Amino acid sequence: MLRFDILTLFPAIFEGFFSESILKNAVNAGKIAVNVHNIRDWATDKHSSVDDRPFGGGPGMLLKVDRVVPCVEDIQKQDETAGRLLLFSPQGKMFHQQLAEEFALEKRIILLCGRYEGFDQRIIDILQPEEISLGNYVLNGGEVAAMAVIETVMRLIPGVLGDDNSARYDSFSANGIVEGKRLLDCEHYTRPREYRGLEVPEVLLNGNHAEIAEWRKKNSIEKTKQRKPELME
Ligand code: SAM
Repeated sequence: MLRFDILTLFPAIFEGFFSESILKNAVNAGKIAVNVHNIRDWATDKHSSVDDRPFGGGPGMLLKVDRVVPCVEDIQKQDETAGRLLLFSPQGKMFHQQLAEEFALEKRIILLCGRYEGFDQRIIDILQPEEISLGNYVLNGGEVAAMAVIETVMRLIPGVLGDDNSARYDSFSANGIVEGKRLLDCEHYTRPREYRGLEVPEVLLNGNHAEIAEWRKKNSIEKTKQRKPELME
């Protein structure tokens, strides 16, 4: 069981997310556990403030060190293992499939979502989190990044998907099609056999599993060369 603890100022964002589909089933089956914590619960003043203006001036507000640090430390103590602490930031290390595979082996992951202009630097200095970015663009908050990480990781936990081979042959997986390479998935087709003059490749209909496997392998390699040649290097 992998335990996720999400630290956010907007817990309601996650309500629908965890009550649908594969995520809901994974929670019900005890494959993952999810706890969503409101950072505001660690505010100590009568206005429940969690953010403040930056020293030196400038736009926006920053998450306060004396709210976020106690919040993370309390949550780390809630389990026998403190877990791996991720802090979402566009300045962080780019999230990718290999990192997700690493995360899927963990017992516990804490995901710290920023908002506004981000975090007081001392939060990072004290907690020494792994700073994770979803990409080179700026979101309003870390919640979408947390959802992306959780979805990617939970797909890799055995027994979560209907068929564990689904994730095995996904793009970017180390599935051994070409030793040591992480390729894009091949093209897939379902019924009808013909639509608007476009036909399903004949080889996929002939029932010869060796030929089908060879076609898929070639298709996967060609697609990767065309679209993401860096994966072939
Ligand atoms: N001022 C910050 C900067 O330019 O680096 C951006 C702050 S952003 C508006 C607010 C929060 O959204 C961040 O603290 C982070 O948690 C989250 N966030 C924004 N873009 C992200 C990205 N690409 N990856 C992960 N988290 C992101």
